[in-house]
Amino acid sequence: MAESLLNRIIRHIEMSGPLPLAEYMHWCMSDRQSGYYQTGKPIGQKGDFVTAPEVSQMFGELIGIWALNAWHELGCPKPFNLVELGPGNGTLMKDMLRATSISEAFANAVNVQMIEISGTLANIQSQVLGNAAKVEWHTEIDKVPDQPSIIIANEFLDVLPFRQYVKSGGKWHENCVGFDDTRNLSWVLGAGVLDTQDLPQEHINEPDGAVFEVSNTRETFVTNIAKIIRKNTGVALFIDYGHMKSGFGDTFQAIREHSFADPLSEPGKCDLTSHVDFDALKRAVTGKELEVYPVMTQGEFLLSMGLLQRAGELGKGKDAATQERLKLEAERLALPDKMGNLFKVFAFSTIPDLPPFAKQG
Ligand code: SAH
Repeated sequence: MAESLLNRIIRHIEMSGPLPLAEYMHWCMSDRQSGYYQTGKPIGQKGDFVTAPEVSQMFGELIGIWALNAWHELGCPKPFNLVELGPGNGTLMKDMLRATSISEAFANAVNVQMIEISGTLANIQSQVLGNAAKVEWHTEIDKVPDQPSIIIANEFLDVLPFRQYVKSGGKWHENCVGFDDTRNLSWVLGAGVLDTQDLPQEHINEPDGAVFEVSNTRETFVTNIAKIIRKNTGVALFIDYGHMKSGFGDTFQAIREHSFADPLSEPGKCDLTSHVDFDALKRAVTGKELEVYPVMTQGEFLLSMGLLQRAGELGKGKDAATQERLKLEAERLALPDKMGNLFKVFAFSTIPDLPPFAKQG
């Protein structure tokens, strides 16, 4: 029988010392044999967590209409890429394609490009999409054809590895995974420290035990997308839970069967994520000859895109139960105490105006 992921991680720590959280996360999520996205059925009521496209068809439909408008603003390029990063069950793309099918010109010009590392999920996506459009799968964004691109990612950035630094004795040490006497994985602070130049100014006031998170992987990923868009023109839209201003705090979470789990107890068996620092991502792409728009909340974005009107339209002439369901779905997506405020929408492009985003002030 293949050696368990836990044993392989322990052997690695024995040989090379504690694993920085970012590396531990990479093993747990992306290991080819036992990584979370290879083995699990993460998304949906029967999975570990529910994402916005799974909450309501309205989410994908409104993003589809947003993409259709962006395509017009780009001058209706033919052909063009509609790229989705980490498409999960394929629901968002399915709903987007249905909504955009109102434009025959868009449907004829679109090249759907799914960027997915999990073979298991790519199979599910392929079944869900059927032969709705010309669809190609890649494991890396660099493989998409050289042409204008509309790039969408929902709850994708949060799964990419990040580092945590913990203030201890006045210095910021990296949070790492080691193991204790009984060979259980446990948290240890690494010897390396973070240069205070890389921290927000207020770090001086933070007490010992404070946590700072940074993700080079996410910044590099978004910078790479900015390059692709600058080269061939296009727009990028990222939706995720996170904050608009870089700050301090531990946002690491492990989710299994819709509840919080211990991230160290069974590597590869739960979803490991953290909140996305949109401030850092904005800094990474600003000044690169692109329009970078102010970050919006998901609630603001969906309401500006016509969420309530869409719910009204779908419910027209339907029974009370259907209308009530649509109302609850809209509330879950947009109310501040549900997904409305925690989730943010971040976009940049090669075009000056991209409703509903305000221009950078
Ligand atoms: N966007 C979907 C799913 C989010 S879960 C939704 O909203 O429902 C994260 C998705 O990203 C999964 O499909 C996972 O397999 C994929 N993924 C994780 N790391 C990836 C990587 N490095 N490159 C491409 N896809 C990745």
